[in-house]
Amino acid sequence: MTTPEQIIAKIETYDTIIIHRHVNPDPDAIGSQVGLAEVLRNSYPDKTIYQVGSDTGNLAWLANVQEIEPAAYQGALVIVTDTANSPRISGETFNLGAELIKIDHHPNDDPYGDLNWVLPDASSTSEIIIDIVNNSEGHLQFNQAAARVLYAGIVGDTGRFMFNSTSPHTMECAAQMMTFDIHHDKLNQKMNEITLEQAKLQGYLFDQLQVNDQQVAYLVVDRATQDRLHVEPQQVHSIVGTPGRLKGVLTWVIFVQQADDTYRVHFRSKGPIINELAKQHDGGGHPLASGAKAADQAEIDIIIAELSALAAQYTE
Ligand code: AMP
Repeated sequence: MTTPEQIIAKIETYDTIIIHRHVNPDPDAIGSQVGLAEVLRNSYPDKTIYQVGSDTGNLAWLANVQEIEPAAYQGALVIVTDTANSPRISGETFNLGAELIKIDHHPNDDPYGDLNWVLPDASSTSEIIIDIVNNSEGHLQFNQAAARVLYAGIVGDTGRFMFNSTSPHTMECAAQMMTFDIHHDKLNQKMNEITLEQAKLQGYLFDQLQVNDQQVAYLVVDRATQDRLHVEPQQVHSIVGTPGRLKGVLTWVIFVQQADDTYRVHFRSKGPIINELAKQHDGGGHPLASGAKAADQAEIDIIIAELSALAAQYTE
């Protein structure tokens, strides 16, 4: 496996470094991408550093991307953060560079790139970036802009330090980022914020959520419901964690109908490992938090049955 020293050595040999992350970015995708970009800008003022990919949508307040021409990739180093497999990389141009490095914390099922540094036990890719900087013997330096997004990435992927991936070291990394005057209170408020429409969607969830005998909770948010509640498919993500608060729910799945009528599937679990099931439905992710796709209601029914079978087999 690659070492962080090799990654830093590569970074030092390139004048242009272009950083990508995954589609539908969450705070950790943005935190690791933009955090690394800000660290590199701060550490190597003579290099050209870009952060690219799709627009960051609802998270534009946290950071956004730059638009660049394909010619910028000539002789450039490309680094992709927080992205398990190459089809999920945001920005089709990612393979136009001279070399490609993957830095991630999802299971390494698709070790794309020339070098990869993948630590599935890390809470977040932001935590991995912080460790790379701290172990760089002074070659890489944080600044406030980097610390702000890296802190947000850790908070996002640990569910505010709640998930089992949160280690004492995770807390140390977050504490270190807080020393950079990042206004963590404002940042947390902003990450916690929902619109009135999203609040009404929460109400819809509590009203319509089904919980079966296997302690599996499930909800379909179809296009008609999204239209009625005035929410975009992307905004439905704000309710994905909510069923886990309910006593007696062991694992849950939310289906969000997309503009093309197919469904994005969000799996979450308090115990049963769900990423293998996600992989069977064109998805993947972490053992307790995964995403997938469903073509139609028939596939939704199959997924609920399969998840129920998994939950029924589970013993603590
Ligand atoms: P989500 O439910 O979209 O918040 O995703 C939960 C986790 O699963 C994240 O770590 C995602 O990166 C991952 N994930 C979501 N969708 C997919 C997919 N189609 N393929 C692989 N991983 C995914």
